[in-house]
Amino acid sequence: NKQVLLRDCVTGFPKESDMVVVENPLKLEVPEGSNEILLKNLYLSCDPYMRNRMGKNGTFTPGSPIIGYGVAKVLESGHPDYKKGDLVWGITGWEEYSLVSSTQILFKIEHTDVPLSYYTGILGMPGMTAYAGFYEVGSPKKGENVFVSAASGAVGQLVGQFAKLMGCHVVGSAGSKDKVDLLKNKFGFDDAFNYKEEQDLNAALKRYFPDGIDIYFENVGGKTLDAVLLNMRPHGRIPVCGMISQYNLDQPEGVTNLTHLIYKRITMRGFTVTDFYHLYTKFLDLVLPHIRAGKIVYVEDIAEGLENGPAALVGLFSGRNVGKQVLLVARE
Ligand code: NDP
Repeated sequence: NKQVLLRDCVTGFPKESDMVVVENPLKLEVPEGSNEILLKNLYLSCDPYMRNRMGKNGTFTPGSPIIGYGVAKVLESGHPDYKKGDLVWGITGWEEYSLVSSTQILFKIEHTDVPLSYYTGILGMPGMTAYAGFYEVGSPKKGENVFVSAASGAVGQLVGQFAKLMGCHVVGSAGSKDKVDLLKNKFGFDDAFNYKEEQDLNAALKRYFPDGIDIYFENVGGKTLDAVLLNMRPHGRIPVCGMISQYNLDQPEGVTNLTHLIYKRITMRGFTVTDFYHLYTKFLDLVLPHIRAGKIVYVEDIAEGLENGPAALVGLFSGRNVGKQVLLVARE
């Protein structure tokens, strides 16, 4: 069983050498009488939150496999709800085979007419994040101005497309020319810019939103949030999904413009996708027909082989990924 282990707790920016790929000779099987499930992992998901789990106060154990979301096939099951051959997505290990508990997040995959890898992205945790953050937390209305940061990534590309479906005006920021092109030409954002080329983010936002921002879908935090606060409209909403620019800093950057929350009556609300998984069926009913009709598209960046997992995961923090970063472990 090939595995990707955490070598030691991570400080600062994660490095490939924080992880090690090993061959574990132990053969896994479901113990007699247990209700565990033996999985063959097919696709693994690289997600920014995993950095926090790798840190000193994180939940990953040095010497043990990295844990994350993935798509897998059931090889053996001690649980009545799962049977051999079922396809599932949920929490699994960064290894070829995993023994998981049925109390972990685990959804059965019922629709296989779309790429299976989508269940690490648009049809899995990041998709649900975009849905919950935009519709449930953002309370969007037709015609509103929406700004999305890290807009070409796993979550952002979908937020932008939801905003267009809702009849909003949407602008995204991303870290390269290719990503900006994707936002405008593939995902249908009304406009987009490369935040790395803007000396003055406040001025850039004023240029793209002369009337201000109603909804800021927050993925990055730091300087971007500070500039956004200056450009929010009264009664605007900020669903706080993530703050990737802060995850590797010992000392988080200060945000200086928070008083704008008061005068402009802005609602800034953090959320965690796991609180919204009860909406998963409703989410699929919305998104699957749009995927099938080609009205929602999704870009993935697929690395192949567990050996390439550490580089793929670390790459999220330099913006190496173009679209959802997936790791292919095995085809069915
Ligand atoms: P992405 O697919 O967008 O990958 C991360 C991207 O973040 C990179 O490609 C890079 O894009 C950008 N980035 C990296 N470092 C910085 C930085 N210092 N400043 C600005 N941008 C940076 O990731 P996801 O879509 O999976 O996640 C987006 C956000 O959503 C993250 O903050 C994540 O933690 C959060 N999240 C929250 C969840 C929740 O339940 N609340 C669930 C899932 C995700 P670029 O080239 O554009 O810089």
